[in-house]
Amino acid sequence: MRENRDLLDTWEADDVVQRFASDPAEELIAWALEQWGTRIALCTSFQAEGMVILDMAHRIDPKVRVFTVDTGRLPQETYDIMERVRELYHIEVELFFPDPRQVEAMVRGDGPNLFYKSVEARMWCCHVRKVEPMRRALDGLGAWITGLRRDQSASRATINKAELDAEHGGLMKLNPLCDWTSEQVWDYIDTYDVPTHRLYQRGYTSIGCAPCTRPTQPGDDARAGRWWWEQNAVKECGIHGLGTARRCDI
Ligand code: SF4
Repeated sequence: MRENRDLLDTWEADDVVQRFASDPAEELIAWALEQWGTRIALCTSFQAEGMVILDMAHRIDPKVRVFTVDTGRLPQETYDIMERVRELYHIEVELFFPDPRQVEAMVRGDGPNLFYKSVEARMWCCHVRKVEPMRRALDGLGAWITGLRRDQSASRATINKAELDAEHGGLMKLNPLCDWTSEQVWDYIDTYDVPTHRLYQRGYTSIGCAPCTRPTQPGDDARAGRWWWEQNAVKECGIHGLGTARRCDI
């Protein structure tokens, strides 16, 4: 195991992609946990994919680090599954919160429901409540693991199993499930009896903050229920570098 915050370069990232191209997701996770030790952490919002990654990683190393961002606008069901995870896996979930001064200034100035006013306002809220705490969560890590999949949306269609995360200083971002289908995710959950978020039972196919997420209809894009009032906007919050977060002036 390396001793310092070790960042791989583009060649090494490509090598990881080639090396694990056709291997099971567990192989990449096991290699990464060995490679980075306590300087790798798994990011989850407790959706189905995040739960699969968490379950896989916990089977490999019960001390795996798990973190999440609590935006302050999450649905109660997210806190419920967070508690379930803490009890079932006996892990500490590292919680990162937005800067209260930034939230206070934003809500005082733009209102509690600013996200409905414009795409820019929504992206600013995502920046304050998600992107900035995520930046702190990743600070000092050499790598992080996500549950992103290519077929979740057009904006995720080209993600790789390993990529350099330029948005966060060039650390390694691993997406072991990037080539999985939704069916594979739910098969794993059934096989290993992994707990799931209760909102799936109410027609949600992607789950984020309560005021910005709703159930989808059959045939919809999996992320169609996120920021559903926006037309032609990228359905991303900026955490994964797939959207654009900037200060809005509403
Ligand atoms: Fe704000 Fe909605 Fe983004 Fe949550 S999803 S951070 S409430 S805009």
